[in-house]
Formats: sequence, structure tokens, C-alpha cells
Amino acid sequence: MKSEIVKIGKVQIGGGLPVVIQSMTDTHTSDIGATVQQCIELYDAGAEMVRMTINDEASAKAVPEIRKILDAKGYNDIALIGDFHFNGHILLNKYPLLTKSIDKYRINPANEKSFEEFIRIAIENDKVVRIGLNKGSFDGDIVKAILQYAEKAEKTGLKRNKIVLSLKSSDAVDFIKDHERLSEEMKKNKKIYALHIGLTEAGTGIQGIVSSSVATGILLQKGIGDTIRVSITPGKNESRTKEVEVCKNILQTLGLRNFGPHITSCPGCGRTNKKYFQEMVEKINDHAKKYKNAKDLHLAVMGCVVNGPGECKKADIAIMLPGDQEKQTAQVYIKGKLTNSLNGKNILKEFLEILDKTLQIR
Ligand code: SF4
Repeated sequence: MKSEIVKIGKVQIGGGLPVVIQSMTDTHTSDIGATVQQCIELYDAGAEMVRMTINDEASAKAVPEIRKILDAKGYNDIALIGDFHFNGHILLNKYPLLTKSIDKYRINPANEKSFEEFIRIAIENDKVVRIGLNKGSFDGDIVKAILQYAEKAEKTGLKRNKIVLSLKSSDAVDFIKDHERLSEEMKKNKKIYALHIGLTEAGTGIQGIVSSSVATGILLQKGIGDTIRVSITPGKNESRTKEVEVCKNILQTLGLRNFGPHITSCPGCGRTNKKYFQEMVEKINDHAKKYKNAKDLHLAVMGCVVNGPGECKKADIAIMLPGDQEKQTAQVYIKGKLTNSLNGKNILKEFLEILDKTLQIR
């Protein structure tokens, strides 16, 4: 069972449509220049929806200006989401331009006393509301509570195709179990809402990436989730866009969307020249990225004959290097067929030429 399609600005989610990527700015929203810049960076990296904090009068006044500048720069496709806590209804009532310039209002009912008033503002302005509970700010049965809030929003008059639900938790196992239960409950009640999924406060570095990927990946594989976000703390000097890259990789790994060439490469081992092999993989990877229209391309770079032929035959274009103790000939496969044998110092250059030629006539 699928939810109805939910239109958020120019973005559509739910109803079995491809899973959409969301991100969130970490600039002060009142800093218009910096926020516009980050919205553009996130969108260019692949985030179709960008959420921003609207926590005070200065940020409420800034948002219409941010929307105007983005539109003028040709970024009118970005769906903007306002993140409200505690004072959302006050700001939305006081600033009509704010109310109109965002496409979705995000409310955490545990932090918003005027839930019904908030919903009424969304109805009057024909906007979507994400009703999100977070275990960091809610004690109790989070699944039962979110469905009660959704019911309350519908009773207030908000249509089901204007509602997105989310359950946030920083514990991956809880997160998976809660969503599985929510999905079961929705099916049982025959009321399916669009879902935004994302492990919250996932941490930094490898820990954040792995926990987010495992948690969201398991749900997406079961068909749970219409939009995703990866909430990792950026490392020092690390771009906010890293979380978008992780989302893209999760979706591509699961075969849900394609964003660029996929490369199968073995880890290398004592059978192959480590330095040469690693350089080769890196250079082929970088080279393939320039083919923006080859999003579904599958390449393989393998280090020796042990698993090389099998993996190379599965790829669109592949190269199998010789192991140290094999005859020093690299073999090239195109669409599963052995097409070329390369020798000498120019193996990489010749392979890249074959790659270019094959992709240009593809
Ligand atoms: S394919 Fe060959 S080089 Fe690569 S990891 Fe396997 S055995 Fe090692």
C-alpha cells in the first residue's frame, strides 16, 4: 500500500515515486547570503528539499528574501521547508510572507502547544505539514502518538495528501523497529501517510555514515520511506553536502536511484601491486565522473584473475589487471565480452581511451 502523492512546492513524494533527498542548512537563517549559498550547494549536490531553522523574527523575515534570491538565480525547484519549534504559530501568524514562501512546515507537536492552530495556518495557505516526533523530546509510545497527531490534523481539516510523518531516534535498532511498527499500523488502519525517514543525531565520521546507512537502508529495502535525510555532524572543514552524498550512495546501493557511474572494485590483496591498483581505481573513478549522462553505467576494476573475470563480465566496461605472478597483460571487457588485451606502461591511458570511445557511441 502506498501513500497518496504529496506535492511540496515543485517536488512530489510518496505514491511509489522515487525517494527524494532532503537536507538542512546549518547557517543562521537570518544570514541571508550564507543561507542562500548553502541552499544552492545542497541542491547542486543532490538535495531536492532543504529545511531551515525558523526560530526568531530575524529568520522569519529573512526566509521570503531567501526564496526570492533563489528564484532569481534559477533555483525555483528547491522545495523549502521551515523548521519550527515552540513559537511556530506565532511567527507564521505574524509574517504572512514567510507563511507563503515556504513549501512545507515542520512541526514537532511535543514542542508546539498550538498544534491545531498551526495546522489551521497550513490549511489556509494550502501547505504541507511534516508532523515529526523525536525521541529526544518525547517520552512514551512514539508510534501511537504520531498516528494520534496525524488523526488530529485530519480532523482539523488537513488532507492526507498534505501530511508527512516522521519518527526520529538516535538509536538505530529502535528507529528500525518503530518504523516497522508504524508501517504495520498504517496498513492495519488502511491510512497510509507519506514518511520522511532519517536516523537523527547519528554522530560524526564513519560512525554517523554507517549507522545512518544501515538504519535507513533496512527500511528502504522494505519499501518504507518516501524522503530521506542523513543527519551527520560535519567534521572540521567538512562540507554540509557530505550528508547529501551519503543519501545518494544509500539510494544508489539499493538500486532505487542512479546518480553516477557505479564502480565495482576489489579491495586488493597480496596478489596485486597495491599502489598501482589503487591509483588505477582512483583515476578511473575520477574519469568516469565526467560522464554526467552515464548515471546507470557499471564499471569494474579488478586486481587479478581470482575474481576478476566474473565481476568484469557483469559490468558494462571493465578492466582486470594482472596479479604480480600472472602474465603482465590487462584484459578489457565490454558488455561481458573480452575485447582487448593491454600491455606495457600505458595500460591506464589506453583503457581510458577505450572508455571514452565506448561511452561516446553508447
Ligand atoms: S580479485 Fe585478486 S587482487 Fe582483488 S582482492 Fe581478489 S584475489 Fe586479491
